[in-house]
Amino acid sequence: MTSKELIKFTPLKSDNTQDVLSAVRALSPWAEGEASSIRGNMAQMREAVLAIDPTAYGRTRNHLDGAVTQLSPFIRHGALTLDEVRNVAIEKVGPKEAEKFVQQLTWRDYWQRLYEKYPERIWHDVEDYKTGFGPNDYADQMPDDILSAQTGTACINQFLEQLLETGWIHNHVRLYLAAYICHWRRVKWQVGARFFLTHLLDGDPASNNLSWQWVASTFSHKPYFFNLDNVSKYSGPDINTKFNANKEIAGSYEALSERLFPYMEPKR
Ligand SMILES: Cc1cc2nc3c(=O)[nH]c(=O)nc-3n(C[C@H](O)[C@H](O)[C@H](O)COP(=O)(O)OP(=O)(O)OC[C@H]3O[C@@H](n4cnc5c(N)ncnc54)[C@H](O)[C@@H]3O)c2cc1C
Repeated sequence: MTSKELIKFTPLKSDNTQDVLSAVRALSPWAEGEASSIRGNMAQMREAVLAIDPTAYGRTRNHLDGAVTQLSPFIRHGALTLDEVRNVAIEKVGPKEAEKFVQQLTWRDYWQRLYEKYPERIWHDVEDYKTGFGPNDYADQMPDDILSAQTGTACINQFLEQLLETGWIHNHVRLYLAAYICHWRRVKWQVGARFFLTHLLDGDPASNNLSWQWVASTFSHKPYFFNLDNVSKYSGPDINTKFNANKEIAGSYEALSERLFPYMEPKR
């Protein structure tokens, strides 16, 4: 499908919220809960498809204000396929220039395939933690200050507010929040994954839970963590990265590693 054809493509006949909700309920009568109060529509999707810029994406995608597409809610809910998105990108700039973007699309495909093959991996530790802690060292409940975005760390509160208010956060922010919840606050990755699934508009058990396991180190060879310098490097002036407001995450990687993982086996 070309981008021109895609723009004409409308899987549901109406953008009217009630019509869409009725159509979704008829298709999935087993679904529980209420629809999110955050509204999206096909016009937003078409705009985001037109705006795909694979060249800028390759250069800036790790920056919180980089040229990422925010197409994930539409892809997650089947309004747009990965093939369609890939074809638009290649049509715009050619296969070589679109390579980085297409690579990122394949992550979604990879996680979906793993989910299909090993469904038990979605909620169970794939491997042991490599943090020096066992599963019982991690909390079963999310701390209240995280739920209310009132932690002692300013940038983390801003990221949590964005998640709670808009239902979408950048990939780097997902990594920061997952690492903060899992490693700084030592909460089970399953608790964090459920929290994300509740609030993300693109909440998807495969991409989400397997990424949480990757951060936690139950699906990778070491825990992912970050420091304040890294947040400063990738965020713009709207994020508070002042030392005094973010002491908990400040420090060198060596110092933070010793503080967060005092029992972790040293590298050989
Ligand atoms: C802890 C954690 C939880 C996550 N939870 C989800 C989730 O519930 N649902 C979800 O769709 N993605 C999830 N991701 C993956 C990724 O962060 C989002 O897909 C991406 O940030 C969505 O923004 P975008 O549409 O602007 O992506 P872009 O960077 O513009 O990429 C385009 C599309 O490629 C796919 N994609 C890009 N990067 C990834 C990636 N690393 N993994 C999987 N797919 C990717 C997505 O479908 C995305 O919409 C998670 C990542 C982490 C680290």
